[in-house]
Amino acid sequence: MTTKRDYYAILGLSREADLGQIKKAYRQKALDFHPDRNQHDPQAEEKFKEASEAYEVLSDPQKRQIYDQLGHAGLEGRGFHGFDRVDDIFASFGDIFEDFFGGFSPFGSSRSRRGGSRARHGGDLEASLNISFEEAVFGTKKEIDIHKEASCEACSGKGSKSGRTNACATCGGSGQVAHSQGFFMIQTTCPRCHGAGEFIADPCDECRGQGRVRKKKMVTVKVPAGVEDAMRLVLRGEGNAGMQGGGSGDLYVFIRVAPHSFFERKGDDVHCTVPVSMVQAAIGTKIKVPTLEGEEEIKIEEGTDSGHEIRLKRKGVANVHSGRRGDQVIKIVVTTPKKLSKKQRQLLEDFSKS
Ligand SMILES: [Zn+2]
Ligand SMILES: [Zn+2]
Repeated sequence: MTTKRDYYAILGLSREADLGQIKKAYRQKALDFHPDRNQHDPQAEEKFKEASEAYEVLSDPQKRQIYDQLGHAGLEGRGFHGFDRVDDIFASFGDIFEDFFGGFSPFGSSRSRRGGSRARHGGDLEASLNISFEEAVFGTKKEIDIHKEASCEACSGKGSKSGRTNACATCGGSGQVAHSQGFFMIQTTCPRCHGAGEFIADPCDECRGQGRVRKKKMVTVKVPAGVEDAMRLVLRGEGNAGMQGGGSGDLYVFIRVAPHSFFERKGDDVHCTVPVSMVQAAIGTKIKVPTLEGEEEIKIEEGTDSGHEIRLKRKGVANVHSGRRGDQVIKIVVTTPKKLSKKQRQLLEDFSKS
């Protein structure tokens, strides 16, 4: 048993209504019964919820089909219930209200945005930087060329020769225009001047009034010791210049580290593989192995198995954040001789029998 009203009737639509008509109808109901406009009116709240539920179903082709064939019971059978709370409607339909009202609440709530400033922030830029394994380990300084929007020198970024401006005729200099929407007046940013309220009277020839020009600039990137492949460095303020007093964007530098022929980095540890002969592994020996800072002699204990790992403490990479060094991990691989001289063969046979 259900006492719910027909969804089409709630929105005042025919069964053939298309999505555009459904949206339009719901928009009007949302305006009429919006809780911001009908505070402490439980009836309006119920109507708002009812219209929202109808919209939720009719705007979704799958739900609409179920409703058309089986009615309310069909949807309930599939676990669909309307909205219990108004907040849930805003959570589900937030972007629709954004669409409807262009980000401006028609009810004067805190959701409205303020326009009117000419200042525009410059955009961020991206660049990539290839460095060697050693450069990543010890840090380096690199110069890269970037193409960016830089502040115009001719007009000091003002975009104007003299600094004179003319007021925007469309908005009368306020940067805002008002539309009537049903009973409401909605303020939006002026489409002509984009909220600036004025135009430059005598644009700078260099930058055509933009206040910035496209330039190639060399930027020095300080790569800290310990960076890893795919890390991103941020150079604050090295992005595009802002306009009309807006701040500059940032430059993001993506680090690509070339692999090393001997070392492999795992976190802050460096791993390597060192071969020793069967005989060296059996009787023990001392060998020289490369480290990040030159060769070091290590001891191979008597009876070392293939795959044994020797750890050199604090011989890895300094962590890029903490500076704490990882270890060097040396994996010993015992090699078996492939070609033996007669004498060697005899010795091994004697050893085997012993
Ligand atoms: Zn200029
Ligand atoms: Zn204007």
